[in-house]
Amino acid sequence: MPTKNRGNIIMRPQAPLLVDTFGRRIEYLRLSVTDRCDLRCTYCIPKGFRGFQEPASWLRFEEIERLISIMAPRGLKRVRLTGGEPLVRRDLPDLAARLAAIPGIDDLSLSTNATRLHALAAPLKAAGVRRVNVSLDSLRADRVAAEGCRFHADKDQYGRDAWSE
Ligand code: SF4
Repeated sequence: MPTKNRGNIIMRPQAPLLVDTFGRRIEYLRLSVTDRCDLRCTYCIPKGFRGFQEPASWLRFEEIERLISIMAPRGLKRVRLTGGEPLVRRDLPDLAARLAAIPGIDDLSLSTNATRLHALAAPLKAAGVRRVNVSLDSLRADRVAAEGCRFHADKDQYGRDAWSE
């Protein structure tokens, strides 16, 4: 994009804002960092499903960082990391730190099933993740089993405790 030099000040044309087809500004992005998950809820991943993307086709951290760096000057303010289950993506705190450091991104959050949150809560918070959203079908183990899901209330509680410390 061309720049104009006015005296000692380099003027850069304002980047065009991100808008949808209804003219609404886009300030929020849900970013899937993997299609994989450590659980197998039947309504999400059919039994025997093998159609996951190969990791080689995933965006690398450098590519994600560049994408968000391009979108932030165009109005993006909030990013939520999702999956699949985002915590199965290796070195996720590294990606979080990269995104949290991008000027204009003032809210970095995460949706998770919490199975790995006890191990990753501290590094994610240190990296700049401000909030987590924990998905739960039920707090009752019998209902969870009946729904064919493996969300585990105790694990979730453990993860939430870790986040609160
Ligand atoms: S925890 Fe979420 S992503 Fe994983 S299988 Fe269940 S619904 Fe799907």
